[in-house]
Amino acid sequence: MRIVLKIGTSTLTYPSGRLNIRHVEALVKVISDLKNAGHEVILVSSGAIALGIGKLRLRERPSDIPTKQAAAAIGQCELMYIYDRLFSQFDHSIAQILLTADDVGHEERKTNFENTMERLLELGVIPVVNENDTVATAEIRVGDNDTLGAITACSVHADLLVLFSDIDGLFTDDPRRNPEAKQITEVREITPEIEALGGGAGSKNGTGGMITKLKAAKIVTENGSDMVIANGNAPETLYDIVEGKPVGTRFVGKREKS
Ligand code: GLU
Repeated sequence: MRIVLKIGTSTLTYPSGRLNIRHVEALVKVISDLKNAGHEVILVSSGAIALGIGKLRLRERPSDIPTKQAAAAIGQCELMYIYDRLFSQFDHSIAQILLTADDVGHEERKTNFENTMERLLELGVIPVVNENDTVATAEIRVGDNDTLGAITACSVHADLLVLFSDIDGLFTDDPRRNPEAKQITEVREITPEIEALGGGAGSKNGTGGMITKLKAAKIVTENGSDMVIANGNAPETLYDIVEGKPVGTRFVGKREKS
């Protein structure tokens, strides 16, 4: 199976921007094991800006673009260093891919991206994708890594996109406010009712929130692949997700009827 796994900032770091070692170590172990079992895994990893902020010991998230971009430059280095070190323990190699919307909107650059990804996967490497935050301004940004995950999943013809976040999945209401809210385990059609569930206040988390997750689900399911939203706090659930067991919320890809 070819799996794209998007890991959100809230899974990788504490609010201070320091690394969540427990989550990252567990994630790397599960991904390495899935690779050993014969699966192909592509990571779409956030966390560059947060790790940069942590490394610089800034007290709060900068609001100006140059400082955010500087933080991303510092944090991206740190992010890849951490992955490289941890994956090396299990004898896996990683590769860094930094993109903007401009790159995937440009035919030749998109083809180059796809060819490189294919070759990296053939070589048995784990590509780690992020937005090229140091050069991306509003006009050319993808803007959030849920969408970047969906674009990547379509580009590499992945079977599955998994969005690991700090929420358990899609709920009938905001579970932080309404204890009666129920988790939806499977979505076969993204109807206006489902879309309305993404809009509620309080559902925002990290850069994305539920709105960008539903946007990603639309892109990926239209392309025929499944997408799962699950809580990144328990990386071992990735085994069950890959086996198709009910974890989080699964959006079922549209398959051609034969
Ligand atoms: N590219 C951003 C980062 O690495 C994160 C964007 C997102 O989480 O959606 O900090």
